[in-house]
Amino acid sequence: MTTTYTTEPTTGESYTTLADRYATAVNTAELDLVAFLTTIPAHTRHATALAVRRRTVAEAHRYTHAADLALRMPDLFAAFRADGRYSVDHLDAIWSRINRHARALASATSAGADGVAPAATVDAAVALGVAAWTNTTGITVWTALADVTDEVLCTVAPLAVADTETAETEAVSLTRRGTRLTLDCGSEITAGALWSAITTAALQIRSDNTRDNTPGVASDVSGAPAMSACRGQVALGLLGGRADQLTVTVNTYRSHPHAPSFVLGTGWVSATTGAALAHLARRVRHLPDAAQIPDTRAYRFTTAQKARIQGRDGHCRFPGCCVAADECDHDHLVSSPHTDPGSDGVTGVANGISLCRTHHTLKTAKVWAAKSDDDAVTVTWTGPGGVMVTTVAAGPLSPTRHPR
Ligand SMILES: [Zn+2]
Repeated sequence: MTTTYTTEPTTGESYTTLADRYATAVNTAELDLVAFLTTIPAHTRHATALAVRRRTVAEAHRYTHAADLALRMPDLFAAFRADGRYSVDHLDAIWSRINRHARALASATSAGADGVAPAATVDAAVALGVAAWTNTTGITVWTALADVTDEVLCTVAPLAVADTETAETEAVSLTRRGTRLTLDCGSEITAGALWSAITTAALQIRSDNTRDNTPGVASDVSGAPAMSACRGQVALGLLGGRADQLTVTVNTYRSHPHAPSFVLGTGWVSATTGAALAHLARRVRHLPDAAQIPDTRAYRFTTAQKARIQGRDGHCRFPGCCVAADECDHDHLVSSPHTDPGSDGVTGVANGISLCRTHHTLKTAKVWAAKSDDDAVTVTWTGPGGVMVTTVAAGPLSPTRHPR
C-alpha cells in the first residue's frame, strides 16, 4: 500500500481546512493502531503500544485503554473510526470514567434479571449515551464525552458511583515523580481544607519575607516570595527537618573527579553536584573496562558486572521504557543453563541486560524475544504479530558514546 502525503497547503486552503486535514490524518492513524491492538492478546497490548509508539508509558496506557473500550463498544468505535474527529484520548476519557468505578461495579457481581452482568449493561448504556450526545449536540470535545459518561453512570449505576465516592474519600496516597511529591487527599473537600490551611501559613511566611529576601525562596517582581514557594516551605516544614533520619541510595557514574556525573534515575548532574555526592558516598569504586570483567558460570551477576550493565543501559532495555537501570532486574540475553538446561548463556556483561520487572516477565513468558549481535549494545525485540523494534544502550558507559 502506498500513501502519498502533501505537506504544502493546496491553493486557497484555509488554516481551518488545513487543521482538519492534519487532525483527521493523525486521528485516523491513532484509531488504526487501536484497531490493531484489539487483534492481539490483552496482556500484550501495553508493551506493544509502547514499543510501536516509543512515547511515554502513560501514552501506551491510553492506547491499551482505547483498545479495551473498542472491544467493549464496537459500534461506537466503528463510528468514531469512520468519523475522523475522535482520537485515542476520547476513548481513554470514556474508559477512565467507567474504570473509576471498576471496583464498585465488580462487587455488584450478580447478573441482572436478564442475565446481563452489570458492567456490560453500563458499557451499553454509556455507548448509547455518548452516541446520542454527539449526534444531538455535534460536540466532540473529549471533556464533554467524559462528562456524558459520568452522567450516564450516575443514572444507570447510582449505587456504584456512591460506593466509589465513599471509597475515594477514605483513600489517601502520597507518590513521587522526580522532584515532585503528589499527595492525593481522597476527596476534594479534604484537599480544599488542607490547601486553605497551607495557604494561610504560607501567607505568613510571605509577609515575614517580603522585605528581606530569603535565600532559596523564589521571589516575584515586587520582591515578595512566590506563593508556590511559600507553600512548599510550609509543606517541607511539616516534616520537621529530620534529614538525619533519612537514608537514600543514589548510584552515580563519572569518568574522573572533575567530570559531570550520571545519576541513575535522574540523569546528568554537574561536576560540583557529582563531587558532593561522591563526598557523601559510603563507597566509591573504580570500575574496570567491560573486557576486563570476566564471565562466570554462576547464575547471579557479580557486583562489577551489574555496575557495568547498569551504566551501559541507563534504563530498562525494553523499547520506550524509562525505569532506571538500578531499579531493574539483570537478565540473561541468552538464557543461563541454570534456568534453561538447553541453553548455554554465560553470566557476563555482554550477555546481561537491564529489564524492569514488567518487561522481564514479558520476556520470560516469551511474549517478546530479545536478541543482540553486538554484546547487548543493540537489542532487537520481536513481539506479538511479528513486530520488531530495536533499542540501543544509552547509559553513560554505552560504547555508542565513544565510537572507536
Ligand atoms: Zn521496562
